[in-house]
Amino acid sequence: MGFLRPPLAIRMHAADNVAIIANDGGLPAGTVMPAGVAEGLVLRDKVPQGHKVALTDLAPGQAIVRYNVPVGFARQAIPAGSWVHERLLDIPAARALQDLPMATVKPEQQEALEGFAFEGYVNSDGSVGTRNLLAITTTVQCVAGVVKIAVERIERELLPIFPHVDGVVGLEHSYGCGVAIDAPGAEIPIRTLRNISLNPNFGGEVMVVSLGCEKLQPDRLLPPGSFPIHGAHDKDQGLDLVCLQDEAHVGFMSMVDSIVQSAKPHLQRLNARRRQTVPASALVVGVQCGGSDAFSGVTANPAVGYMADLIVRAGGTVMFSENTEVRDAVEQLTSRAATPEVAQAIVRELGWYDQYLERGRADRTANTTPGNKAGGLSNIAEKAMGSIIKSGSAAIAHVLSPGEKLRSDQKGLVFAATPASDFICGTLQLAAGMNVHVFTTGRGTPYGLQACPVVKVATRTDLATRWHDLMDMNAGRIADGEMTIEEAGHALFLLMLDVASGRKTWAEHWKLHNALVLFNPAPIT
Ligand code: CA
Repeated sequence: MGFLRPPLAIRMHAADNVAIIANDGGLPAGTVMPAGVAEGLVLRDKVPQGHKVALTDLAPGQAIVRYNVPVGFARQAIPAGSWVHERLLDIPAARALQDLPMATVKPEQQEALEGFAFEGYVNSDGSVGTRNLLAITTTVQCVAGVVKIAVERIERELLPIFPHVDGVVGLEHSYGCGVAIDAPGAEIPIRTLRNISLNPNFGGEVMVVSLGCEKLQPDRLLPPGSFPIHGAHDKDQGLDLVCLQDEAHVGFMSMVDSIVQSAKPHLQRLNARRRQTVPASALVVGVQCGGSDAFSGVTANPAVGYMADLIVRAGGTVMFSENTEVRDAVEQLTSRAATPEVAQAIVRELGWYDQYLERGRADRTANTTPGNKAGGLSNIAEKAMGSIIKSGSAAIAHVLSPGEKLRSDQKGLVFAATPASDFICGTLQLAAGMNVHVFTTGRGTPYGLQACPVVKVATRTDLATRWHDLMDMNAGRIADGEMTIEEAGHALFLLMLDVASGRKTWAEHWKLHNALVLFNPAPIT
């Protein structure tokens, strides 16, 4: 920053007929490109940063190729040096879910990575937390206001007595009543809530606040046997439950008192825990992008993909998600599946999601926001190619349906099928058992989660500089020529281990977090 860089165009594959302009502020018409992928090319238009420039003359109907795949077809003749914006191209049709290559690619077995560790909280089920949090599970939105006030009191009165507890999280959501609770699809929000309350960062302590008359009754949310029980006195009682409509409650403050009293034994047990050294294989990383631009698929996402490979080599788990952002690259997923059964599961999840979108009459322009387009991403086909790079190169070992929890034997690269919505994807990855989240952004978003640290990676130096106290890493240095993708991926891997060990992210520093948002494909009544 602060000095003029020579004009720079970045091409992702030798077969591409477009490249993107890397310079801050873009480049003016008349710019002559210096040595590099577009040597001697004269820009016919002003091309904004992150946007595509035609490297050759493109005929009407010709494929616009980026990442060596067609991301669109020219609507008209596009001379070399032109700005290729989304109005100049037609979106390719989605690949049908038939006749796909199933588990055909055998990724090279990568060497195991030994010797990496972090300091985490070991839970009785063998999972490992990266934070030591008390969660208060709620069955229904009706109780949210009371729980919020109880949480404030716990923070004020109890946390100073229990200094080894990192915080208290009220698991607020909009579900629980006024919903078709037996309809197909209702199992998704219900198991999401159940599995979030069992997230490794909550140490196996489960306490529930219910209203009393709601549809989602506590024993439906957490049936006997689905949750751990602590302490002798709890054995007879089963679930540790505060019911606001209980006749013992006289007045509002008695409800708050009940919740605060219930929290105490949980806080005592959490407070006795200490971090201990565990191998990097205990990482369960969810990767996601949001507020994407054309640099997402050039800098931050490839660095995340390299990090994902390192975590898989270290024996850990990496989840990638965002159905609508991988749908256009479905062949790459099914071919990389470890077994034909895994490939079938990918087709099953994406097929189910296609039908879900069709029911709502969402078309293929529904994903890609105005910000994506302003950032140079013309359509979902182009966005998908840049998004899927986050998954790295390992074989896809497992597939999770929305809201499902990883079993302890499910390690390696996992496709956790979720919507691409940042909040819903993050919520479902928490339910799957994520203990660290990595989030890439080009346009910029202050996204955070309360239950799990979120490491945010900027795709551009310009964003990383302006949002210096929100972005945890600057992958824009790759486009600046200061770092290779491998170097950035390795640095990110080390940063993830640090954060897992307790180093605060910027979002944690500012206590920034977004709401839990449940995916409920079933009707509201
Ligand atoms: Ca997203």
